[in-house]
Amino acid sequence: MKKIAILGSTGSIGQSTLSICESYPDRFRPIALAAGSNLEVAFEQCRRWHPQLVSISTERLADQLRTLLKSAAISTEVVHGTAGTVRVATLPEANFVVSAIVGVAGLEATYAAVLAGKTVGLANKECIVAAGDLILAAARERGVALLPIDSEHNAIHQCLRGGAPNEVRQIWLTASGGPFRNTPLSEFEHITPAQALKHPTWVMGQRITVDSATMLNKGLEIIEACRLFNLPPSQVKVTVHPQSTIHSLVEYVDGSILAQISVTDMRLPILYALAWPERIPSDLTFDMTALKQLDFQTPDLERFPCLRLAYEAAAASQAHCIALNGADEVAVAAFLSGRLSFLGIPRTIESVLSVTASASPASIPEVLQLDQSARALAEQVIEQHHPYLITH
Ligand code: NAD
Ligand code: MG
Repeated sequence: MKKIAILGSTGSIGQSTLSICESYPDRFRPIALAAGSNLEVAFEQCRRWHPQLVSISTERLADQLRTLLKSAAISTEVVHGTAGTVRVATLPEANFVVSAIVGVAGLEATYAAVLAGKTVGLANKECIVAAGDLILAAARERGVALLPIDSEHNAIHQCLRGGAPNEVRQIWLTASGGPFRNTPLSEFEHITPAQALKHPTWVMGQRITVDSATMLNKGLEIIEACRLFNLPPSQVKVTVHPQSTIHSLVEYVDGSILAQISVTDMRLPILYALAWPERIPSDLTFDMTALKQLDFQTPDLERFPCLRLAYEAAAASQAHCIALNGADEVAVAAFLSGRLSFLGIPRTIESVLSVTASASPASIPEVLQLDQSARALAEQVIEQHHPYLITH
């Protein structure tokens, strides 16, 4: 029995992880959960799973959750804040941690899980973008397995079973191209949050859905792949594949290319990570006889400047990768609240990157410091009546 701690249990990946636990009660049991601010869902999850420990974002929510649990005679311990997520990530009884908090908010807990020697299923790409070197080094030192849940990296992990690391020529990340793949560029300025939140092939949390629309998500995934698979950016290619049927590919030095094909359902990469190194039967089958067409296009960097910015950040320095992510997090929140236009997102990131100094932080507090500076700068750029702001 694998005992699972889930960071971000109330989110899209967190709920899919619990659905896998539901399907395999003899193999996977969630024993610790960390939620953000969704009290109702956190309470329902405690009612269903009776975890040992639950964390929620604030002290006030923690008090409310304690009261609810007491009235339902559930003895789950309630903690809160970053210290709470770290407690969940390091609970001695848990042997597998799913890292699925969105953004840098999940960094400290993910790092703590690795330091505590847990096997980690990694959905939170932002923490690898911001501190991949530190996390990978800690994992290597302790012999900890990091299993990617992000579907592309999960596909690469599977394809890498086909050869040795020094036999890889390059890897190909597939991208759906998002909802605006064919939208005329002249209409980009007027894209609304409601339009950006409609992803053609995946149902996900809000930030990653907007990031998919700007293709910054693919940019973060390029950096994530460089860190996880120890490759330079020049060996990580992107191809737009609207059907999202092939989840990614590895090209070997002899010319062979291995691809991973499956349903577009995140439960499959989650199951792969939870079951690793085994493969276990599932009903998440893909009907090959229904496969009609596979299309591929070169990404258009003019239409999607975020992709270019990510390659530039990856080539510049670790501080630039942190700034890319931090500035985007702020810009996406501003876009969703109507303060910034869709095109304002890449423009804000570009402004922040242009004044970011090269640096390689040597500790998590240094990473968080750089993240904070990039966020503050992004807020300033948006506040200072940026020419691309929506004006009401
Ligand atoms: P989501 O917005 O649906 O869920 C995020 C979770 O994090 C929620 O449980 C939320 O309560 C929690 N959270 C947010 N801030 C927190 C904080 N300060 N402290 C504690 N918890 C906090 O997002 P998601 O789509 O599930 O994505 C989660 C992560 O997985 C992201 O990093 C995303 O890039 C990655 N990912 C998601 C998908 C997907 O299909 N959804 C695919 C690949 C990668
Ligand atoms: Mg992905």
